[in-house]
Amino acid sequence: MKYLDEYRDAGIARALAARIRARATRPWVLMEICGGQTHTIMRYGLPELLPAEIELVHGPGCPVCVAPLEIVDRAIDIASRPGVIFVSYGDMLRVPGSHSDLFHVKAAGGDVRIAYSPMDAVKIARENPGLPVVFFAIGFETTAPANAMAVWQARRENLANFSMLVSHVLVPPAIRLILGSPSSRVEGLIAPGHVCAVMGFEEYQALSEEFHVPVVVGGFEPIDLLEAIAMLVDQLESGRAELENQYSRSVTRTGSAAARKLMDEVFEVTDRQWRGIGPIPASGYRLRDAYAAFDAERVFSAGHIRVEEPPECIAAQVMLGRKKPVDCPAFGTRCTPQSPMGASMVSSEGACAAYYAYRRHTAPPASSEVPA
Ligand code: SF4
Repeated sequence: MKYLDEYRDAGIARALAARIRARATRPWVLMEICGGQTHTIMRYGLPELLPAEIELVHGPGCPVCVAPLEIVDRAIDIASRPGVIFVSYGDMLRVPGSHSDLFHVKAAGGDVRIAYSPMDAVKIARENPGLPVVFFAIGFETTAPANAMAVWQARRENLANFSMLVSHVLVPPAIRLILGSPSSRVEGLIAPGHVCAVMGFEEYQALSEEFHVPVVVGGFEPIDLLEAIAMLVDQLESGRAELENQYSRSVTRTGSAAARKLMDEVFEVTDRQWRGIGPIPASGYRLRDAYAAFDAERVFSAGHIRVEEPPECIAAQVMLGRKKPVDCPAFGTRCTPQSPMGASMVSSEGACAAYYAYRRHTAPPASSEVPA
């Protein structure tokens, strides 16, 4: 296939669903890791297209959702300081901290700006040499190369007023946590294609071998995901547990050498706290000491802020594949995009936001949403 609309073709989708239906002889629980994949699955009604044997659970691949409450509170603390220009991706503004969010900081007069790239923040720093400019670097391995580039460029230009609040997390340690849990129901994994485009898929091959779970690197269009599910079901029904690459138009075994070289220059692996899940060893990035002058937690002495997660939000259980958003008593009532209790309801990659946006909390549609 060559064009994007071919990856949304209803006829191909139905043929893949029929292939899955013909192959599946028993129930299988499959997890898509990335929140972008979750949104495609809900938007195109893939659960309604699949046979009843296939249950999809949603993984931890939403970086905004796993950013701990304390990093949001640190961001609010820094953004509230007089003179600071705080630059963030838009979906972080509504993510609730323990008492407020960045949107309220902006409404109260704070200089909080939305950007589409960390290089926008570098440009703002260049144009405002007298003011501290902080970029909120949230993300998985996917966004790490651009964030590394921004810090590298700021050092090259001696932009002493630029810094970065880093909340980078890594996918494989979280997958190891899920698959290693005695209560894990996950029998097959759709690995995140964009992460693998940067990092390659060797880490996922190792996970597949370690836990004897089939893994298919998948893309983000409905045909990508249906094909990845078909490949997983083929493996499961034939007793195989291997790594396969459905997203071969973007992903190679070793990923992008140039991106990884730059990330390694700027970042080092560290332990990270995951929202609602807790600490996971060696599961994130922080700036290397050589780039300490660009580390906002050190520049603003904000690293000490620690808070408790709200007990009502079960988003962590959703991201571990144990529950669905509709299992949350607050879903769609006390927790909505207008009045969120958890990050998963407002992130563009959150599972709760996907269920809410595509109305899976109401009766299922009479027919698939895959366009005819
Ligand atoms: S509906 Fe809201 S409170 Fe419930 S799990 Fe989702 S984000 Fe958390």
